Order: sequence, then structure tokens, then C-alpha cells
Amino acid sequence: MLKHIKKIYKTILTEKTRIKLHYIKFYIRGYFYSGSKVTCVCCNKSFTKFLPHGNVKRQNAVCPSCNTLERNRVLFLYLRDKTNFFHDQLTVLHFAPEYRLEKIFRKMKNLNYTSGDINPDLAMQQVDIQSIGFPDNHFDVIICSHVLGHVPDEAKALSELRRVLKPEGSAIIMTKIYEDIQSTFEASGMYNAEDQEIFRKHGKDFPESLKEGGFDVSIIDVAKDVGNVAVVKYGLGEKELIYLCKRKAESKKFKV
Ligand SMILES: [Zn+2]
Repeated sequence: MLKHIKKIYKTILTEKTRIKLHYIKFYIRGYFYSGSKVTCVCCNKSFTKFLPHGNVKRQNAVCPSCNTLERNRVLFLYLRDKTNFFHDQLTVLHFAPEYRLEKIFRKMKNLNYTSGDINPDLAMQQVDIQSIGFPDNHFDVIICSHVLGHVPDEAKALSELRRVLKPEGSAIIMTKIYEDIQSTFEASGMYNAEDQEIFRKHGKDFPESLKEGGFDVSIIDVAKDVGNVAVVKYGLGEKELIYLCKRKAESKKFKV
């Protein structure tokens, strides 16, 4: 019976509508956890706790109201406190946008903002990161969080990111690093803790892939920068690194 209801629900409602309904449900859930122990920087509300998440439950992960994860809050905090993202005029491309972050960024008057996803129901435009339908040197900022593990051809994706990024622009890249793996492991038929298909498990050598893709890479450890008290208060997790990528300068003269 429940299976039938689920099937009808999926047939009647588009994916976009179903996602909206989910977020209304999360919004209501938030009221049941109102408190003062933790604060979500994305929805600016305080709660008794963040909720567990993942197949193997990770504690203090999900905001009860806006459903953001640790990595979303790390990204938001970084953009808000350490960059000009909230003030200056910037042309932005945001891959696989997190629902709450996209809502905030779309409203920001200073941004010429586009979100893109291979699934047109999940973003403003359908965009394949391996063949980005934008001209060269177009974006000041590209946000690409937890996307590269899901892309069949990562080298092609990096080459495309580099192509559409302005020479002085920045790509903000995040991914899950498997701490027990030194070298990135590629295989088909793998799934992550959220049951999504992945084509690779990024190891500790992930920055090397970015460098080979033509980027200079700075590693930003927001949790380390803000300290333990803020990590707990804002539910930031401890292993959510930001790889800030700038285009390597191209040689203007022929050299051997
Ligand atoms: Zn929140």
C-alpha cells in the first residue's frame, strides 16, 4: 500500500515540487528542535542540536530547519567572513547547488548568479560540468562542492572549469577525502554514504589532480581557523576542507 502511495506521489508531482515539499517538512521540523545550544549560519536559527546524517550516522550533521550539512555551513561561513562574495559584483556559477545556499545566493543583488546541474530539476540551468555551455573566461567565482567524485571524466571537468573561469577568478572546490587512501581510486559501481553513485574516491593526493588540471591550489581549513568552540556551535565538522583554485599563469613566451 505504502509503495503504491509513493509511486502515485512520484507520478503526480515533479521532482522540483517534491523537493519543495521536503523543505517545508524540514522547516516545520526545525520548530521541534528550537533551542540555544547550536546555531546554523545558513538559516540563522538556533537549536538544541544538529541531527545525525548518512548511512553510517554522523552526529551533529544536519540543520533541523534548513537541512544544510557541515560542508554547506563551512562554505557559507567562509564566503561570508573571508571573501568579498557578499559585497562585490561577481559573476558566479554554482554546480549542483545546495537548496538553501541557492535560495540565499539567488536573492543577492551583487551577484550575477547561475546554478547548474546535469539534472535540470535541481538547478536554474542544465549544465554538464564536462562540457560547460558558457564562453571562455566568463566567471569570477565557481562553486563546485562534492561534485567531482560523481563525474565520469574528472580531467575534462577540471579543464572546463579552468576554461570558463576568468584568469583572475577563483574556483571553490570541495570533495570528500577518504583519509585512509593516499592516491585517488577510480572504479565504477561505487556508492558513497548517501547512496549516490561515485566514480572515484579522492585520496590525500586530491590537490595534485587540481594542480594537474592547471590550478594553483590553496587549502583552507575553516574548522582549524575558527577553533573548537565555533566548530561545535556552528556544526562545521572537522574535515571539510576548501580547495581554493586559481588559474596557473599561462606562459606568454615560447620557452624550452
Ligand atoms: Zn539551518
